[in-house]
Amino acid sequence: MSVLSRPYFHCEAAAFEHVEEMLWPNGPHCPHCGNAGKIYELKGVRSKPSKKNPEGVERYGLKKCAECRKQFTVRIGTIFEESHIPLHKWLQAIYLMCSSKKGISSNQLARVLEITVKSAWFLSHRIREAMRSGELEPMGGAGKEVEGDETYFGNKDVITTRTKRGKAGLSSKRAVVSLVERGGSVRSFHVDRADKQTVTSIVNENVNKESAFYTDESRLYNDVHGTFAGGSERVHHAASEYVRGPAHTNTLEGYYSIFKRGMKGVYQHCSEKHLHRYLAEFDFRYNNRIKLGVADPERAEKALKNVKGRRLLYRDSFQALS
Ligand SMILES: [Zn+2]
Repeated sequence: MSVLSRPYFHCEAAAFEHVEEMLWPNGPHCPHCGNAGKIYELKGVRSKPSKKNPEGVERYGLKKCAECRKQFTVRIGTIFEESHIPLHKWLQAIYLMCSSKKGISSNQLARVLEITVKSAWFLSHRIREAMRSGELEPMGGAGKEVEGDETYFGNKDVITTRTKRGKAGLSSKRAVVSLVERGGSVRSFHVDRADKQTVTSIVNENVNKESAFYTDESRLYNDVHGTFAGGSERVHHAASEYVRGPAHTNTLEGYYSIFKRGMKGVYQHCSEKHLHRYLAEFDFRYNNRIKLGVADPERAEKALKNVKGRRLLYRDSFQALS
């Protein structure tokens, strides 16, 4: 037996059961009218016959609400809605993305799941939406240490690109600002410009002022240094100073090295428009890492519990590819 032998990775009925357990821990409720009372299980219902399936296919997980008389499954209102990919393949994809430290490319996902690259690409972006944390509480606090740093994904300098009409244009830098609490979570932001104003508001909105705060010598943090009750210090990387007592940004350097290896080695073609979703993916794995007691199966369950209300429309995301 292995993790991959679990029935919900292979059997569609088991996959529905697993997702229902995760999303409806207190039993099903109707997505149309909100009724959580009497709901019928519709067993053995088959879809209309088609050329490919002359006898139709079994409609797993189908339910009917006793109040509004409408039918539904657990897929409604989640990232699985309107997808033709069977639920057990979705569960395989979530597991693979949650357990691969540097991510998994759409090409590889397509080969493993035996779906098209286009489907794999779309499915993986929907899963990244489920990995987005949406955490709003400031991080850190009294006795906690927070590091701030920024990095540039791709070409650090302004690069010349060609627009659809063939005109040359200027593409902005792909700047990423991250904050990490030592021994805790990371939060990354894709920003249009890494300037002092942007960085100051990110730090002020996301870091508890009781924390101790550490950065390198970058001037971007000039306005936030001195505002922390736990003190704040900078190390001078330019002068080859990397650690001075508790002052360092090594935790973020470690995070960025995983992010960069993943983005270079696995996701080579990431358009700027999608960078925030890749960041959500790397943040999610870091924030649910083994060191914090989260193993691969629990990490996958955490992502699965987050699939509600995270729909990403096919047309919206594909516009960005063209
Ligand atoms: Zn209903």
